[in-house]
Amino acid sequence: MNLILLGPPGSGKGTQSKILVKNRGMVQLSTGDMLREAVKAGSNIGKKVAGIMEAGELVTDDIVNALIEERLSKKNSGFIFDGYPRTLNQADLLDKQLTNANTRIDMVIELTVDIDQLIDRIVGRISCANCGAMYHITHQPPKKEGVCDACGSTELYQRKDDNEESFRTRLLEYYQKTAPLTGYYHRAGLLQYVSSIGSIEDIATRIGTTLDAG
Ligand code: AMP
Repeated sequence: MNLILLGPPGSGKGTQSKILVKNRGMVQLSTGDMLREAVKAGSNIGKKVAGIMEAGELVTDDIVNALIEERLSKKNSGFIFDGYPRTLNQADLLDKQLTNANTRIDMVIELTVDIDQLIDRIVGRISCANCGAMYHITHQPPKKEGVCDACGSTELYQRKDDNEESFRTRLLEYYQKTAPLTGYYHRAGLLQYVSSIGSIEDIATRIGTTLDAG
């Protein structure tokens, strides 16, 4: 099963992907995580994309397509595509690559949100640099302040693009460039909607039910 999670920034794609990895043994392919790793490592790609990401704009299709191509060459199913594809061009290339590998996208879930809640989710979001676990400063803080519940690391940080200004750009990018993908996948008969309002567990249950029904 190959699954795409669509949804605006803050809709919970990363959090829900991690739950699917844990519960269903799927492999999360997050282009955002891959790019952040490149920035942290100071690689050529990292240097190219750091400012673009911080501003909340999309990086070029060729950069993310190459990252995905490399991962798909190692394995060809059981993926959760989290934050990819984000443009019609990326979706087209992904289709071609999966077809070449004799596989395909089985389902696309769009996480639907209340836009007013997104800013609050984003500006309060912190992540663990060591294991990727995610928290919210007020709604879901780690049990011990500054310490990751999952791995015990003290490297909790806020993403540079998790501020109100970058968020507005990210939202605009989403509606202009990524939202057309819902039409693309609807036409392909693959699109399902899941509400991303409520607790993380409730949303995970809804996603699980949708996957099992598909
Ligand atoms: P995310 O972690 O998915 O929110 O992505 C963080 C940032 O990485 C985005 O705001 C973009 O700058 C960049 N990015 C991640 N995935 C893509 C993609 N598929 N296409 C273009 N830019 C991307």
